Amino acid sequence: MSNSAVVIIISAPSGTGKTSICRSIFRQFPDIRFSVSYTTRPPRSGEVDGRDYYFVTEDVFREKAQNGEFAEWAENYGHHYGTSRRVVEEIRSRGEDLILDVEPRGARALKELYPDGVFVFVLPPDLEELKKRLQKRGAEDDEIRERRFQKAKDEIREVVWYDYIIVNDRLESAVEKLRAVYLAEKCRRERQRPVIDGFMKEA
Ligand code: ADP
Ligand code: 5GP
Repeated sequence: MSNSAVVIIISAPSGTGKTSICRSIFRQFPDIRFSVSYTTRPPRSGEVDGRDYYFVTEDVFREKAQNGEFAEWAENYGHHYGTSRRVVEEIRSRGEDLILDVEPRGARALKELYPDGVFVFVLPPDLEELKKRLQKRGAEDDEIRERRFQKAKDEIREVVWYDYIIVNDRLESAVEKLRAVYLAEKCRRERQRPVIDGFMKEA
């Protein structure tokens, strides 16, 4: 595995705009891979199986969990979500940069596994705006939306242990900030070791 690869773990309360930000980053950097998680929640309109999630039944998810196929998994709003060890390890073994989208409990578990991961938390400008965005996204009944909103307040408390905080006020500016984090992390000395070693050999 190449230790120059960047692994970004990104969390945000549901509805903050994390998917929108990441989609833009993937368009700008087509070589960054996305860790496609497994979930038992039904697809939203526009979501594609194998691209956004692997959509599976509760039985399939349970079997995978029992077989130790998940690096971490959690229940959110009555549905299960899990990070596939295989997906992550395949990408890492190719030395490719990687973004994982997980909520804070999952992110904490991943910090144990990937201590050199870059942990990014995306915040909404305020809670009122978060409520509006959850409504804008639609496709869910009011009760689930309210549960997501209540959970958001708990999740925001976890912000304290993340490496970078991005407020998603204007989408373009939030994308710019994530882009800046990614590029700065790429330039870290420890990730530039192969380049440095090349020069040392020549000198
Ligand atoms: P998440 O993946 O965090 O749940 P989404 O990316 O699905 O959030 O965004 C939730 C809703 O908010 C979508 O309708 C999206 O278009 C909208 N949205 C995202 N970012 C912004 C922003 N900066 N300003 C206004 N609306 C936004
Ligand atoms: P959504 O239903 O809006 O796609 O996602 C709900 C929440 O599940 C988000 O906070 C998202 O980050 C989280 N999530 C997505 N995939 C995973 C995963 O593999 N593991 C964990 N723990 N959370 C996930």
